Amino acid sequence: MHLNTSLEPKVQPLTPELPTRITIASGDGIGREIMDATLSLLDAAGAQLEYEEIEIGKEVYLKGNSSGISPEAWEVLRRNSAFLKGPITTPQGGGYKSLNVTIRKAMGLYANVRPCQAYTPYVDSNFPEMDLVVVRENEEDLYAGIEHQQTTEVVQCLKLVSRPGCERIVRYAFEYARAYGRHKVTCMTKDNIMKHTDGLFHKVFDEVAQEYPDIQSEHYIIDIGAALLAARPEQFDVIVTLNLYGDIISDITAQVAGSVGLGGSANIGDTIAMFEAIHGSAPDIAGKGIANPSGLIHAACMMLTHVGQPRVAERVLNALLRTLEDGIHTADLYNEAYTRFRASTQEFTQAVIERLGQEPRKLKPAVLGDNAQPIEIKVKPYLAASKQLVGVDVFLDWSAGQRDPNELGQALERIAGKNLKLKMITNRGVKVYPNGFPETFCTDHWRCRFVSVDSRVKPLGNGMAITAPVSYDEVVALLQRLANEGLNFIKTENLYEINGERAYSLGQGE
Ligand code: NAD
Repeated sequence: MHLNTSLEPKVQPLTPELPTRITIASGDGIGREIMDATLSLLDAAGAQLEYEEIEIGKEVYLKGNSSGISPEAWEVLRRNSAFLKGPITTPQGGGYKSLNVTIRKAMGLYANVRPCQAYTPYVDSNFPEMDLVVVRENEEDLYAGIEHQQTTEVVQCLKLVSRPGCERIVRYAFEYARAYGRHKVTCMTKDNIMKHTDGLFHKVFDEVAQEYPDIQSEHYIIDIGAALLAARPEQFDVIVTLNLYGDIISDITAQVAGSVGLGGSANIGDTIAMFEAIHGSAPDIAGKGIANPSGLIHAACMMLTHVGQPRVAERVLNALLRTLEDGIHTADLYNEAYTRFRASTQEFTQAVIERLGQEPRKLKPAVLGDNAQPIEIKVKPYLAASKQLVGVDVFLDWSAGQRDPNELGQALERIAGKNLKLKMITNRGVKVYPNGFPETFCTDHWRCRFVSVDSRVKPLGNGMAITAPVSYDEVVALLQRLANEGLNFIKTENLYEINGERAYSLGQGE
């Protein structure tokens, strides 16, 4: 949770009058121990919560629910706006689906939020000033799970990025920055290579950033951004990025902060949000009563803020920081210089409870003022665009003879017909026809671009493009001719101009 001294806490009731009902699940391994500890602390801190418990995890998997959650549990999840989840053990062997991914997708949890903070000198980190939050898009990108083997040699995974998806997560990052008194949002993409997918994310970021003049904004290409995160993480505040990059950098940042064992994370949706510790079920220490509950406590504090009880979260966080400072540490945090008492889970929790109402002396105290409100994002629908079909990419599975691109190209020139012409062939994105290089290695997977015979290269909004309309009938007739010639087409991608912009990438060397 962000420690923010710039927001003056205003007078606000400690808790709402009516308790908020939330779903809880202990999960596996150390789950029960850390959940019991966390709930007793929330209770002592005055959280106004009621709990509905569901069973998830290993036992549920082994009963035959391949997602680790029973059908009845979905109803409970749906009834309550927040879910505090313990870690689970996914059984070894095939056929078991990740429970987290299932819940994220089914419940539309579009934002993954992971604060990463250093607690030096009590927890080792090379970056004592580090205090950042990774906001990761959680539903799209390469995680849509749409993969195909298309030829003997080639498999593909679709990277899907939508404009509303980008807008929602980027707005969430800026709203989060405002709510938690953060000053800067950094966007990370690879739009120098993926100009359309990552390019859209970057473009939406630039548009939305204009609406938040009070928050600084900047963009890094993800590779240099990740390198800087490892070398100078203190320079970052809020980072917003696509799903895969966010998955990777949120683990890097937790590790670099030294707080994997202490960190919590949130998965936020429109109606439901899920909160959990970063760590797993730690089966090696399960049942020993020595697990550190701090990760789940941090997650619970994010949840309290989400359900409108930030002042309780603040009390809990400050008591937790004070306990760390006082040298009361669970075994995982033992350190000769600063540990004064090696505590069990229960002893540690009791020590935090005793410090409720106190603040840390050296670490920065948590201040979650009235601005730390639940964040709701509404994305407006996008109006239909002008859309013109100007060609088609036909992907072929072809490995005849020596796989000579000129042989394939000449055959396709003949098959193209009188309205269409073959513009180029690429293999793994590199142009191999016409005028390819003999050195280019060719697989059995060919992308063959057809455009109208009337097309001319001319400037478009975003560069040069071919432009002349093509009809869907012409595309269908082309596929029929390819089939008649025994050419095995794997798939097609239509080439469009949308709102006067080229809506497809050019081949390398096109
Ligand atoms: P892990 O995080 O469970 O454990 C790694 C190491 O950290 C272990 O030595 C463990 O004892 C220690 N550790 C973890 N949490 C601790 C705590 N709160 N207090 C003290 N020590 C702690 O990671 P793993 O061993 O790779 O995974 C174990 C199981 O957890 C696997 O089945 C994995 O799939 C699952 N897992 C679940 C989640 C989740 O539910 N979100 C996340 C990660 C891993």
